[in-house]
Amino acid sequence: MKVLIKDIEIISMSPSYPSVFKGNIGIEDQNIVFIGEVPSTFNADKVIDGMDHIAMPGLINAHTHMAMSLLRNYADDLPLMTWLSEKIWPVEAKLTSEDIYYGTMLSIAELIKSGCTSFRDMYFHMDEVAKAVELSGVRANLGEGLIGVADPDASGIDKVRNLYRELNLAADGRIVIEVAPHAPYTCPEAYLIKCGALAKDLDVPLHIHLSESRFEVSESYKNFGMSPIQKVNELGLLSGKTSGAHCVHVSEEDIELLRKTGTSVLYNPSSNLKLGNGFAPIQKMLNAGVNVALGTDGASSNNNLNLFEEMHLAGLVNKGILEDPTALPAYEVLKMATINGAKALGIDETVGSLEVGKKADLILLDFNQAHLLPTHDLISLMVYSAQASDVDFVMCNGKILYENRQILTFDEQVIKEKASIIARDLISRI
Ligand SMILES: [Zn+2]
Repeated sequence: MKVLIKDIEIISMSPSYPSVFKGNIGIEDQNIVFIGEVPSTFNADKVIDGMDHIAMPGLINAHTHMAMSLLRNYADDLPLMTWLSEKIWPVEAKLTSEDIYYGTMLSIAELIKSGCTSFRDMYFHMDEVAKAVELSGVRANLGEGLIGVADPDASGIDKVRNLYRELNLAADGRIVIEVAPHAPYTCPEAYLIKCGALAKDLDVPLHIHLSESRFEVSESYKNFGMSPIQKVNELGLLSGKTSGAHCVHVSEEDIELLRKTGTSVLYNPSSNLKLGNGFAPIQKMLNAGVNVALGTDGASSNNNLNLFEEMHLAGLVNKGILEDPTALPAYEVLKMATINGAKALGIDETVGSLEVGKKADLILLDFNQAHLLPTHDLISLMVYSAQASDVDFVMCNGKILYENRQILTFDEQVIKEKASIIARDLISRI
């Protein structure tokens, strides 16, 4: 199918184009085939009028736990370790594959409606998550959450191998299977070494929580005489294919290790603030040359999956804490939600910017809104003024997933009803 998006303001996030310009976008099957003038040979099957709209790459949620949406607003205002051990882990022990499927579908509905075309999940029953990805049409890196302390025979490692064999590059290439050890404080050394070896063997990304809370870091110094980042580096886990979620409490030495190894940092400002974990020195990491991507974390520590909110917060909180309005300029924030996310997920050759030859993962925003006019600066508009609900069109891999504010690939109402029933049942099981 050939789609023409006509006369639209374009934020491509590619250095090959001006940061904002007006033009046309042509899509044929899965790919962007031109940007700019419409070739005379292009006969579109569908034409979308770009009036009052901005086109930009689909946003990338680089760190989340999708089915945790079932626990949205279930346990709040608690410290990280109390929240995990007393509230979250007991419920997670009761999760069934059906719970995961519907929780994930609920989250996918939220992601699509807020302009997100790719996500990176670390959770359980990734075979079920893959079914949801296949049906809904989004793109995802899927990492079965590996908790070493709960996996004495390391059967989780074999599970990931099987997932890779069965599902890597499934759903027209939209699924990437990766290795996701939860954290250094839940995975013993020998287990982490196995995870690192598996990621190298399969040549896939590795996704882990690092230095999220002050308590975690001080325990690491107590047990190993070094920070969590230094510990996983010693075990050979840091590399250009590795992403560390959070990295809130980092030393100069930690930042240098992240830079030197090419490790990406996944920044989750809402979660860090809500769990009282503190402030990640993002501008410092960017200055050092570290790739920083943006995530929401799970919906029970946020409590939504809205990347527009994360962008807004990321920009503001860094300026406020540093007492520097030039910190984290809007374009840097947009990069974190798009091309930097694609780099972290290892899919930047495919998506993350609007460029000829890349897959057509794109969103359109309606700027004919009181809170978006006048349009002096569309980059600032995206980060400081836009709301997730301004997104009114979403395409992933060349397929239209959302149009006229309707999800086209599944019945959103059925998913909302089913997920609500399942969430109540899940809580009643504990
Ligand atoms: Zn997380």
